[in-house]
Amino acid sequence: MKYYSLNHTSPKVNFKTAVVNGLAPDKGLYFPENITPIAKEFIDNIDNYSNEEIAYEAIKQFVGDEIPKAVLQEIIAETLSFDFPVVNLEQNIGSLELFHGPTMAFKDVGARFMARCLGYFNKNSTEEVTVLVATSGDTGGAVANGFLGVKGVEVVILYPSGKVSDIQEKQLTTLDKNITALEVAGVFDDCQDMVKTAFLDNEISRTLTSANSINIARWLPQMFYFFFAYKQIHNQHKEIVFSVPSGNFGNICAGIMAQKLGLPIKQFIASTNINDTIPNYLVKGKYEPKPSKATISNAMDVGNPSNFVRIQELFNQDINALKQVFSSYSFTDNETKEAMKAIYKNSNYITDPHGAVGYLGLQKYGLKNNDFGMFLETAHPVKFLDIVEQTLNVKLPIPNQIKSVLDKEKKAIKISSYQELKDFLNN
Ligand SMILES: *Cc1c(COP(=O)(O)O)cnc(C)c1O
Repeated sequence: MKYYSLNHTSPKVNFKTAVVNGLAPDKGLYFPENITPIAKEFIDNIDNYSNEEIAYEAIKQFVGDEIPKAVLQEIIAETLSFDFPVVNLEQNIGSLELFHGPTMAFKDVGARFMARCLGYFNKNSTEEVTVLVATSGDTGGAVANGFLGVKGVEVVILYPSGKVSDIQEKQLTTLDKNITALEVAGVFDDCQDMVKTAFLDNEISRTLTSANSINIARWLPQMFYFFFAYKQIHNQHKEIVFSVPSGNFGNICAGIMAQKLGLPIKQFIASTNINDTIPNYLVKGKYEPKPSKATISNAMDVGNPSNFVRIQELFNQDINALKQVFSSYSFTDNETKEAMKAIYKNSNYITDPHGAVGYLGLQKYGLKNNDFGMFLETAHPVKFLDIVEQTLNVKLPIPNQIKSVLDKEKKAIKISSYQELKDFLNN
């Protein structure tokens, strides 16, 4: 498979180069040259296939012959070593739980898949690659965990001191092996700026790569669980509506890819917090990015969603075609808390703030009798412990994945300037 840059001035590349580069030299996102639907027979008989087989069928054309079949199957099996249940909450509403992985957020799927692809591509190289990432919380944990123990790959994570939750900090700083955490005196934007500077700095002797969410090896495997959800509910013979709590719009864009591969999905709802660039775009027809605003669903505090250009490409830049299958609504923190309370009261189910925004999207859309709506529960409520406990007046039990890191000792190197990052990377 060849990938082209959405800025259209860089040459086409193969899967491997797209994964290693992350972004094209012209700063465009990579996009597959062809998307061929899966055989209808396969989807009609989806019950006969395991999750691993379904995932292989979905991803194989995008990898081509660049990873041998047996290796790709092993990568998939390791990526998917946990459950993706749909939990029924109401007659026609379910929660697709994506938080059963090691760091309890859906980003585990993309991070684990990407880490193993990069590990494979790098296995015969004598030179180590260094994955450099800045995180505002969840991404870092998923990336660090995904790359833990992957040979030939060093991971350096920058996070803003005092700006991530205790649980998130422990997930970043207790891993050892090939993972190093740098605690930056500053905010997330400072971390991000240092990373960007390092990528442009030719005095850095290491080979740097990014594990950003725009990387195709993080984006594409997110298709998998839309298929798994379909497998669990298609016997109800309902029309399927997915509401995806969206920030950078990578997750929902992967869902639309699954639809392009032939998965019967009626509608996508991109549910956002008050960072409403896309809901506004659908109303006005004009794309007006703006600075992000802080909310309680902070993994979606994005004012200029990087993956939206991929969604536009999937619909040939035709907003009317897009609107046929895609809606987007924005919700305030207050509405989000009220939804968390209502879901808890009516269904005895605890959502995190992101999932609650997804639930609100289904309500606003207005499900018809023959629809089945699923919102993606993108993180375990315990990852947003304070807000969930305060809003619902409950005490959450701490799951084992989290307990095991809370007891470990934090190890981080404090830095406060770009020069210190550079010195670290060159030593
Ligand atoms: C990253 C994240 C999102 C947003 O996903 P995008 O693919 O960026 O739209 C939603 N919820 C949680 C918990 C996340 O960590």
